[in-house]
Amino acid sequence: MVEVRPDEIISILRQQITGFKDQADIYDVGTVLQVGDGIARVFGLSQVMAGELVEFPNDVFGMVLNLEEDSIGCVLFGESTLVKEGDKVRRTGKVASMPVGDSMLGRVINPLGIPVDGKGPIHTDKMLPIERKALGVLQRQPVKEPLQTGIAAIDAMIPIGRGQRELIIGDRQTGKTAVAIDAIINQKYTHSEEAKKNGINPVFCVYVAIGQKRSTVAQVIAKLQDHGAMEYTTVVTASASEPAPLQFIAPYSGATLGEHFRDTGRHALVIYDDLTKQAAAYREVSLLLRRPPGREAYPGDVFYLHSRLLERASKLNDELGGGSLTALPIIETQQGDVSAYIPTNVISITDGQIYLESNLFNAGIRPAINVGISVSRVGGNAQIKAMKKVAGSLKLDLAQYRELEAFAKFGSDLDVSTQKTLSRGARLVELLKQGQYAPIPVEKQVVSVYLGTNGFLDAVAIVDVKRFEKEFEEFALLKYPDIYKSIRETKALSDEAIAMIKKAVAEFSQTFKKSN
Ligand code: ATP
Ligand code: MG
Repeated sequence: MVEVRPDEIISILRQQITGFKDQADIYDVGTVLQVGDGIARVFGLSQVMAGELVEFPNDVFGMVLNLEEDSIGCVLFGESTLVKEGDKVRRTGKVASMPVGDSMLGRVINPLGIPVDGKGPIHTDKMLPIERKALGVLQRQPVKEPLQTGIAAIDAMIPIGRGQRELIIGDRQTGKTAVAIDAIINQKYTHSEEAKKNGINPVFCVYVAIGQKRSTVAQVIAKLQDHGAMEYTTVVTASASEPAPLQFIAPYSGATLGEHFRDTGRHALVIYDDLTKQAAAYREVSLLLRRPPGREAYPGDVFYLHSRLLERASKLNDELGGGSLTALPIIETQQGDVSAYIPTNVISITDGQIYLESNLFNAGIRPAINVGISVSRVGGNAQIKAMKKVAGSLKLDLAQYRELEAFAKFGSDLDVSTQKTLSRGARLVELLKQGQYAPIPVEKQVVSVYLGTNGFLDAVAIVDVKRFEKEFEEFALLKYPDIYKSIRETKALSDEAIAMIKKAVAEFSQTFKKSN
């Protein structure tokens, strides 16, 4: 009687399915069982690693996400229509990686590092994995240099340090992207000769656009170009029309590029616009891979999705070169609801949040920052001395103003001190209004905040506050340029500088014409 040996039968079946006799080949080559929606199920490849890059015909690559008993699930980067059932799949032995290098500055790339701006190939000599482990505590140090956004309300009250993670959160159309773009534009100064003289290191920027309309991304790029900011910026884009897997890995690619600067002793600012859309793309991928959709599993997964990304922001210790990667993730809320699970996750992962509100935005208070609930837990360490000195009372004045704001309609029925708090607060709110694409250098912010918190604007009509600020600046720059020069060079506000400001205001106020 012929004995039936199961392993022999399996081996014959394997051979028929994969076309390979050799055991090693069975581990390294698999067969597509099913393909569609940017996902492929592959039989074989029993030794493949999670996160490994696998190669399909027609130059399509995939990344392994699911390891199951007798098949694997992977996402496809590229045209899934080029892959058919029965196609051979090869292991590459490498985790998904991308090229990185300084030559990517000024370019627009997809999450795999391939240029999409039609300006020809990018020559780089370094490959880095897209998913990298965040550094440990010993390799880091506390943030100590400021990352100036050029937005006075942020730099004064919600200061960001290099290496920090600060969340920008708000409903649709509240100016989230605007804050991030202004922060990028403001880094232009750090690349100047003057900044070098004052000991300020350049900041390289990466803007990651996830799931946005192509036209919106094109507008952002055009604005960055107009303001000379593309020279030190790379845009990583996975627009809404791109397959979900690309949208899902886009922020990791951005972080990898940022780490290239960080790990070479330099400074990077990476914007993730926005992680809500990345979470949606990830959910799509998860469901297509038939992971359980249950509410228990999914939110936990998304927490890990965002935490392992944001943990990569860091300030390296001096032995490692002292480089930094600052992350500004953006989250979109629905109707101001920060208690949904994605906002609460990211709030808990980051070192603070800038909270933008539609009602402030619609009331013309732009940037529409709710100063009361916006915080920066570590950036204060990094603020320059001069700003620290003047901004302390700013927060306090505004907090008192908010408390009493509801009583403003009673006008002259109020006692004198309440009236004073209200009129001061209203002027400070006006002072902190700021247009788009007009970042303010820190020394000018310091002078303006000084004027506001020391009562020099109290006698100015609210409608005149912005004009007063602007005309005073022109006047002072002409007649007392040392005010600004000394703050810029020493980063402190000396008594002499204060005396000069006082003198300048006294002279200027004589000539200031009130509007009627
Ligand atoms: P979305 O949810 O669509 O991504 P968003 O929150 O990113 O929106 P933005 O696109 O940055 O918001 O801004 C919304 C609109 O408000 C834009 O038209 C922008 O030009 C305008 N805006 C943003 N900030 C300011 C500002 N400081 N001053 C004047 N207008 C502004
Ligand atoms: Mg936006």
